[in-house]
Amino acid sequence: MSNPFPVSGNVTQMKGSSTLIAAQAAAEMRASGIDVIDLSVGEPDFDTPEFIKQYAWEGLEKGLTKYTATAGLMEFRRSIADFYGRQFGSAVDVSEIAASCGGKQALFNAACTLLDPGDDVLIPKPYWVTFPEIATFCRANSVFIDTEATDLVLTPDQVAGAMTDRTKLLILNSPNNPSGRVIPPDQMREIVEICSKRGVFVLTDECYLCFAYPPAEPFSLASLPKMSRGLICVAGSFSKTFAMTGWRIGYTIANPEWTKAMVKLQSHSATHPTSFVQYACSKALQDPEQMMNSVKEMTAEYERRRNWLIPELNAIKGFRCSMPEGAFYAFVDVRELLGDAFKTSGDVSDHLLREAHIVVTDGEGFGAEGYLRFSYATSMDNLKRAVEGMKGLFGERSRATAPRH
Ligand code: PLP
Repeated sequence: MSNPFPVSGNVTQMKGSSTLIAAQAAAEMRASGIDVIDLSVGEPDFDTPEFIKQYAWEGLEKGLTKYTATAGLMEFRRSIADFYGRQFGSAVDVSEIAASCGGKQALFNAACTLLDPGDDVLIPKPYWVTFPEIATFCRANSVFIDTEATDLVLTPDQVAGAMTDRTKLLILNSPNNPSGRVIPPDQMREIVEICSKRGVFVLTDECYLCFAYPPAEPFSLASLPKMSRGLICVAGSFSKTFAMTGWRIGYTIANPEWTKAMVKLQSHSATHPTSFVQYACSKALQDPEQMMNSVKEMTAEYERRRNWLIPELNAIKGFRCSMPEGAFYAFVDVRELLGDAFKTSGDVSDHLLREAHIVVTDGEGFGAEGYLRFSYATSMDNLKRAVEGMKGLFGERSRATAPRH
């Protein structure tokens, strides 16, 4: 018998992605012919806008099939700088920008060029599953910040209270996956100020940046003046904003030295994102009207679904959900249901799967046992069927006892 594969310590310590477990359960049920309602999806249910696809063809026809600079095509980086200037009033220089293969690689590049073993990384709960795993890979310590007391919205006091002499980095994600909550801009500025005073770096995952519903507005830390951005790295992505998850394209915005280190790291891994994809994205960004119109259309639809879904979820016995200001997730507190029948939120999600064929993601993997994540990146028809199924399983609250949202 051969020896087991000696997986490295760095990877052994990492956990697999819990969000994929729900997706796999859904796929297995579907394969056995069951009509599954999948509310676990973490990607837009829209196709990539047609004009972006056309630009990709154009790139291929122009012969953009070779290596580009590791930091990305100059045209791509200029388009990002112009986009941030136009949309957020930011003065970003191309020397601060590097293209990456999606937001995930942007986050990895940023963390791996900053963290040393033993550093502390502040991660607010609930968190996107990848954040602690990146810290683990770097042999850094995840220090979680509880936001339960402030309804899952991180506050400056919580950040100040969690800092120690070993704190090197704070990871922010607003609009947030899984909660959909948005940190108000003034609160974000204050958090950055606290970090800056203590010499703590900030990695801000702005993957859902454009998905903020009025009165909330997209707010990028790239819009801060350059002198306040020295310790900040923005991880951006085309995946959700432009319905391009499979294209694998994102970017970082950080000071030129940090950017150089990330480019060095990337030169020995992915090298750069696909050349004609970079071309398509830069052309699309140079067409702001079409670009923002397609974003507006998608966000209007997500907002319509959110406005319908949250009151409906709160009308189900045992469910409580604050109104998420962004992203496309509802994060439901189901702790009222726990007791004899269900010990954990995982038991509740199993029950939903078995009895109503509804797939949702357990909050445990996001550091929030007792919660379930519902994605509304799916049709209204699916949402309506799911709500009906859940009302059938758990019953309806009387209007007088439904939580306010
Ligand atoms: N950050 C968050 C919070 C996400 O939810 C995701 C994807 O689900 C990503 C980053 C990664 O996105 P990308 O497809 O750009 O790698």
